[in-house]
Amino acid sequence: MTATKEIVVLPGDGIGPEVTKEGIKILEAVCKRHGYKLKTRSFDVGGASIDRYGRPLTDETLEACKEVPAVLLGAVGGPQWDNEPKDKRPEAALLGLRKELDLFANLRPIKVYKPLIDASTLKKEIVEGVDIMILRELTGGIYFGRPRLIEKTENGERGVDTMEYTTDKISRIAHKAFEMATNRAKKVASVDKANVLDSSRLWRKVVIEAAKQWPEIELEHVLVDNCAMQLVRYPKQFDVILTGNMFGDILSDEAAMITGSIGMLPSASIGEKFAMYEPVHGSAPDIAGENKANPLATIASIAMLCRHSLDMEEAAQEIEDAILATLEDGFRTGDIYTKSPKEYLVNTSEMGSAIMKHLNPDLQPGTFL
Ligand code: NAD
Repeated sequence: MTATKEIVVLPGDGIGPEVTKEGIKILEAVCKRHGYKLKTRSFDVGGASIDRYGRPLTDETLEACKEVPAVLLGAVGGPQWDNEPKDKRPEAALLGLRKELDLFANLRPIKVYKPLIDASTLKKEIVEGVDIMILRELTGGIYFGRPRLIEKTENGERGVDTMEYTTDKISRIAHKAFEMATNRAKKVASVDKANVLDSSRLWRKVVIEAAKQWPEIELEHVLVDNCAMQLVRYPKQFDVILTGNMFGDILSDEAAMITGSIGMLPSASIGEKFAMYEPVHGSAPDIAGENKANPLATIASIAMLCRHSLDMEEAAQEIEDAILATLEDGFRTGDIYTKSPKEYLVNTSEMGSAIMKHLNPDLQPGTFL
């Protein structure tokens, strides 16, 4: 009997459905190639779910996500839902999924593809060979700490957020970082603001304690402001960057720009039991429905999904090789097209088909254009 791999797909809003369609096409191809049957179930999320059910995330969707090892999400959001109250906005679905699935570790690989090296705003010699894994804690810190409020005062108003971390939350993400580093260059840079913040002082103490169990890993501590500077000065010094929720949010977007295009960046959010994979970019309302979006971030997220959740390392590698080969062939969506004579401008589905061709060489050249 053919073994089955099962995932839930949440296409979401804007370009989400367009890019997830290409991602699923690729996952189907590698499953077939490796002798698996793929079962997918699709649910509305974000704005699409608000329009249909009045809520960005329904209980039924959440339950379905808990029945599978991995969820693929496109993107949520768009101007038509911007005036909804905070808990009814599309983005509330993301926070809800992260919380309910206890997705505490957000992985963002920052890898520069050689054929796209000129797309970066940084100099070639700075970005060449960059290979960083940013590991951001996703369930704690200032985005979840209480109290949070805006209150009236005698002089106007007062806004409060609370930056809070506990030993257990720091410890589990720290161990994850050390575990990741064992399969990489064996270096972890833990980023905090321990010279000012108490929550960071605890962060550093717990990371040092966790490191004792990983003697083969080199650990350094970097203050967040210095890290922001080092990322553009000499990013190659980093292997795994371990950091909290807000610092990770900011640093990972900064690091994203090393690679040139947001349309290229995959991500994974992993918990003890569940995992969710999504491109880093948003719903890009400006190009939604035009078949223009770059699907490579989603396809690279599928590679991560194969690696971390479906026990399909070989397939993950094949997808990553196919992305590189397709870029080497010169295929470019609008966001990475530089009008060089060696490049061919393609749309979303053509890019997906170009990747397919590398996974299935039996396809005739030109059948996808
Ligand atoms: P965005 O990432 O959607 O778009 C920023 C720019 O990058 C746009 O010009 C867009 O056309 C371009 N772009 C993004 N992805 C692309 C792709 N795959 N191919 C080609 N070009 C691409 O960010 P934004 O404009 O700030 O946000 C739009 C909406 O998305 C907002 O509602 C925001 O809240 C939401 N958002 C959602 C997520 C998510 O679902 N994880 C993340 C970020 C933003």
